[in-house]
Amino acid sequence: PPRGEPVLEVEAVERRFGGLIAVNKVSFDVRAGEIVGLIGPNGAGKSTMFNLITGTLAVSSGTVRFLGKDASRLSQREIARLGCARTFQHVKLRPGMTLLDNVVSGTYLRTGAGYIKGGLRLDRLEEERARHEALLRLGQVGLADRAHDLAGDLPLGQQRVLEIARALALDPVLLILDEPAAGLRKKEKDALATLLRKLRQDGLTILIVEHDMDFVMNLVDRIVVMVFGQKLREGDPATIRKDPAVQEAYLGG
Ligand code: ADP
Ligand code: MG
Repeated sequence: PPRGEPVLEVEAVERRFGGLIAVNKVSFDVRAGEIVGLIGPNGAGKSTMFNLITGTLAVSSGTVRFLGKDASRLSQREIARLGCARTFQHVKLRPGMTLLDNVVSGTYLRTGAGYIKGGLRLDRLEEERARHEALLRLGQVGLADRAHDLAGDLPLGQQRVLEIARALALDPVLLILDEPAAGLRKKEKDALATLLRKLRQDGLTILIVEHDMDFVMNLVDRIVVMVFGQKLREGDPATIRKDPAVQEAYLGG
């Protein structure tokens, strides 16, 4: 989509768990070429929102539109195929597999090849194409020289980057990251921020769901703040940082 066109539109989305309203009529959108941060203190409803957008959870009401299409009732796989790729809060790589094979496994979703535990059962041509594509993706994130190392041998910061390479194997329009900076050291966070800026340069649109306000502050174009399931504020990072209600929410959380 052309720069500035909506990629993701979240409209009055609500999710209840019994009597608890985890996400309460939240609306925001993400436009092509943007990096948007969704932040908030613990329990604000960020992960629930992430799961609603990626199709892991069903909305109670409201609409999630992706590239103009109603995605509210699509499965995780269907949403991924439309071009919305995700990473997981807890890295779910296969530590005993090479970086390359980890990324090749990310192409399954797109090619429709069966996901077979421990094996890569693609036909030969398909497999070659997938490996070529995976190597390109590793290059895109700066890990090509480690393609044949085992994923489990990487430090956490690079495992996070590998996870992103795997998501990129879907050739997504939108990349959604759940707490990408969690557990990383300062240097690793900086490297991750640099990579995300580069991916945006490459044409990707990015939504970052993150508790760490400092990490998103210098990275994103726009911030949406959630508190107690509701959208508290939306604005540019500098304005959000100074906002007394946001500061209070973070101190209280
Ligand atoms: P955040 O990611 O911002 O910390 P969550 O989305 O994880 O917040 O949680 C928001 C609220 O929804 C919390 O009160 C949490 O306990 C509740 N919640 C989240 N998932 C479930 C679930 N599967 N069942 C019941 N309550 C849930
Ligand atoms: Mg969370």
